[in-house]
Amino acid sequence: MIVVKIGGGKGLNLAGLCEDVAALLRAGQRLVLVHGGAETTDELAAALGHPAQYVTSTSGHVSRRTDRRTLEIFEMAYCGQINKGLVERLQGLGVNAVGLSGLDGGLLRGTRKDVLRIVENGRQKVLRDDFTGKVEQVNRGLLTLLLDNGYFPVLTPPALSFNHEAINVDGDRAAAAVAAALHADTLILLTSAPGLLARFPDESSLLTNLSLADLGNAQDYAKGKMKRKVLAAQEALQGGVSQVVIGDGRRPEPLRAALAGEGTKIEG
Ligand code: ADP
Repeated sequence: MIVVKIGGGKGLNLAGLCEDVAALLRAGQRLVLVHGGAETTDELAAALGHPAQYVTSTSGHVSRRTDRRTLEIFEMAYCGQINKGLVERLQGLGVNAVGLSGLDGGLLRGTRKDVLRIVENGRQKVLRDDFTGKVEQVNRGLLTLLLDNGYFPVLTPPALSFNHEAINVDGDRAAAAVAAALHADTLILLTSAPGLLARFPDESSLLTNLSLADLGNAQDYAKGKMKRKVLAAQEALQGGVSQVVIGDGRRPEPLRAALAGEGTKIEG
């Protein structure tokens, strides 16, 4: 079982990814795809006159400000344009893809943060109308039902809170939760970088082989959203996944290259 997460960056080779998926499925590989969509959401939000905002929590994490209108726009981009675009592409390659958000069938469930403590212009502020949280449960039965009947799940945030609200969750960590729930051997995180770089953005400083124990230090050089990928890798390995690969989603044959050992391979 392999779980693949593709980021939401513009330069990603989605055509190549879908061809790799089709080839692996034809060879009998069990596979699930999870995707992001941050860049498309930002563009759509700007076009709709509700520009994206990012907030910094008191612990230093940067996240999308997700008020109710942002959540609607988030769903238009993630569950609409990107999810259906991938399903269409895969169907064109003979893959019977089924696109599902974390809401559908309660696929991804978690706790909504009831308050978000942020720092704005050096001052602390409390937000109560933010729809964010973290995945804590995966509906494994729904995924195996699809997989056992020849369907290919294409999954996307948001998740469903335990109070039945849609919540914005990190896609990398959602993919880690899915991989752990499905007892996957491998989680592949495809992104707009060759892997984890020791001296970002120097691409010659690619780290090729790491262990779970090395990941504590990796948080020092991972910047921005790469921090979430390192955290997702930790969570997947702690959840029983044997290996995580952070690979280049921009290159030709992105998935097959990551499986062949290109990128940063992290073992438990
Ligand atoms: P996603 O692929 O989920 O959309 P991003 O592409 O925004 O996420 O996040 C990964 C980005 O993190 C890379 O494109 C890169 O610009 C940046 N980054 C920060 N630190 C590092 C690092 N140490 N190694 C590699 N990339 C890094």
